[in-house]
Amino acid sequence: MGLAESPSKIWDILVVGGGATGLGVAVQAALEGRQVALVEARDFASGTSSRSTKLLHGGVRYLAQGRLHLVREALRERAIVLGLAPHLAQPLSFVVPGRHWFSWAWMGMGLKLYQWLSGRLSLGRTVALGHKSLDRFLPGIPAAVAAMRYWDGQFEDARLALALAKTARAAGASVHNHMQVMAVRYQAQIWHVDLKDARTGQVLTQQARCLVNATGVWVDGLRHMAFSANEPRGVAQVPLVTPSQGVHVVVARERLCIEEAVLIPHTADGRVLFAVPWLGSTLIGTTDTPREDAPLEPRPLDEELAFLFRETRQALGVALEKSDVRSVWVGLRPLVGHAAGSATSQMSREHLILRDAPCFFTITGGKWTTYRSMAAELLQTMVASADLPAAPFGPGDTAHHRLHGAPHADEVTHSLHDAPGLHLWGTEASQVLALPGAARDLGMGLTEAMVRFAARHEWALTVEDMLARRWRALFLDARQAACMAPAVANLLAEETGLDPQLDSFLHLCAQYQLKT
Ligand SMILES: Cc1cc2nc3c(=O)[nH]c(=O)nc-3n(C[C@H](O)[C@H](O)[C@H](O)COP(=O)(O)OP(=O)(O)OC[C@H]3O[C@@H](n4cnc5c(N)ncnc54)[C@H](O)[C@@H]3O)c2cc1C
Repeated sequence: MGLAESPSKIWDILVVGGGATGLGVAVQAALEGRQVALVEARDFASGTSSRSTKLLHGGVRYLAQGRLHLVREALRERAIVLGLAPHLAQPLSFVVPGRHWFSWAWMGMGLKLYQWLSGRLSLGRTVALGHKSLDRFLPGIPAAVAAMRYWDGQFEDARLALALAKTARAAGASVHNHMQVMAVRYQAQIWHVDLKDARTGQVLTQQARCLVNATGVWVDGLRHMAFSANEPRGVAQVPLVTPSQGVHVVVARERLCIEEAVLIPHTADGRVLFAVPWLGSTLIGTTDTPREDAPLEPRPLDEELAFLFRETRQALGVALEKSDVRSVWVGLRPLVGHAAGSATSQMSREHLILRDAPCFFTITGGKWTTYRSMAAELLQTMVASADLPAAPFGPGDTAHHRLHGAPHADEVTHSLHDAPGLHLWGTEASQVLALPGAARDLGMGLTEAMVRFAARHEWALTVEDMLARRWRALFLDARQAACMAPAVANLLAEETGLDPQLDSFLHLCAQYQLKT
């Protein structure tokens, strides 16, 4: 149902934010039989949720911090997500080089414990690799005595978010991108939410019994909007999250040719570095830099890029040039709590669910991997606090409800290491092929039919929606994305009759390239 068609409707839940967290909540609520709507200011996953390292993981590094329950929960969720969307989430092996025998043995014990904690959900055995096999895998890797191989998962974050949005829609949720919350009021026990529709510029008001603030690193903005006018008690005065910036660079697979992911557990300054094969390229990241503000398009700092180049050379033996980088992108992690001078890598990655006021819940932090358990816990909390009645359909079985477009695991023949292709559409691929232009290549394997499908069935309005998230051109090769943009703009304009915002996308492409 369109929002404008239902001005007098009172939703059970209105979710604000269309990243992993908000979309997970919409799926959970819809499968419980609730009347739920979700609004996203820009595009699904346009915030942090398309800028992750794309690892479906229990969090090896949290083991060292002794957070076993956090690791165990994430390992369980890892297995669930692998089953929910096998075309978009797959097991991935990691090689971890050890520089000294003692640190290698210590790390080996930790990784064995990691496998043991996953129990019957283990994706593969943790094994030791001798120097010779390491040399075959990564020739030129400096100063490693031996390595370990362990298993985790990998996923395609932006398309997984889209699959969640489609799943929520199919279960009855009303899901909208390009719809920004501008103002929030609590009157007569109902939340009144003013929304700006970016397509028309119109402002419309929706009503809901409960509001869920799932705006990621921007949660404090919505809390402030909701409470500074209504609530003199200062609920919104203390910020909940500290943004922490993570930078990734993407290079051609030939430049850092790996078939498995590489984890460097201790860089020179104690950080963690990943090199991951992803959609035909290799992505390298990430940094962890606290910042005060939360821009929509954060830029990398010179020292962050210097760190990635230095560590790739020192730890992996590959001397990258700026010209090797095809795309550089930055995500903001919502870390719960305030840094107060401490390093954000030491702050909590655990999530927070807060009942700010009756029927107003903020949910933030955590990991992409745990979006589902976070959503289930939120709905349980809302019922426990009597803000929501018991679920009409009982607790939605989100652990077994496969996502929209997901094939059976045994039908999946492509790996997420492969260049992007129609396989990422899962069971919807045949519908894409039936559209005009299925054989017309627009670059990097994207076809005219894929653009038409995205406009008709995947909420794509702008060139950025298409080339940043429906198809990851911007994140894989920003220069090439700019070349493809005019043809995509023409198709979107024809399909939607709206301005596809070509110029702002070309500006973005320039930002995602490194100046040489
Ligand atoms: C560099 C980096 C690497 C990471 N790697 C991994 C990883 O490998 N594996 C993993 O499991 N996790 C990873 N994470 C964590 C994971 O990406 C995040 O936990 C998750 O994406 C957060 O999702 P979210 O929905 O809470 O936030 P977001 O994705 O940011 O979504 C919030 C949304 O709210 C919208 N919004 C804001 N204000 C409004 C408004 N007024 N009206 C309407 N909408 C609004 C925004 O546009 C945004 O889309 C990583 C994080 C970072 C930063």
